[in-house]
Amino acid sequence: MSNECLFCRIAAGEIPADIVAEGESWMAFRDIQPQAPVHLLVIPREHVESAAELDSNPALGGELLQAVAAVASQEGLYDEGFRVVTNVGERAGQSVMHLHFHVLGGRRMHWPPG
Ligand code: 5GP
Ligand code: ZN
Repeated sequence: MSNECLFCRIAAGEIPADIVAEGESWMAFRDIQPQAPVHLLVIPREHVESAAELDSNPALGGELLQAVAAVASQEGLYDEGFRVVTNVGERAGQSVMHLHFHVLGGRRMHWPPG
């Protein structure tokens, strides 16, 4: 846990979040600045900087993707589809340096992303 890290502080309950689901190793909450009608963030409880670190922790990667699928189902996104995004590094658009999967749904998605 890092005192400097926003998502570590959310995971520790020090900063409030609209939590929609939780597991032993992860939690899912609503993005504070949603980019779609449904916009969730799925994070590991432990501090992991980005998806690049899952290379050495594939079990955690599996748990997080299972969580992504579970929360997408819970939010009713299976029928119309949804998008899962994780930005790795500042150049790719990562602004919070604690691994998170964006789960976006409730509107048509466009490709390619910007
Ligand atoms: P990134 O830009 O790193 O891929 O995504 C970070 C996300 O975290 C952004 O979509 C941003 O809106 C969200 N975010 C930033 N601060 C907070 C916060 O305090 N609470 C919540 N729930 N989301 C946040
Ligand atoms: Zn952290």
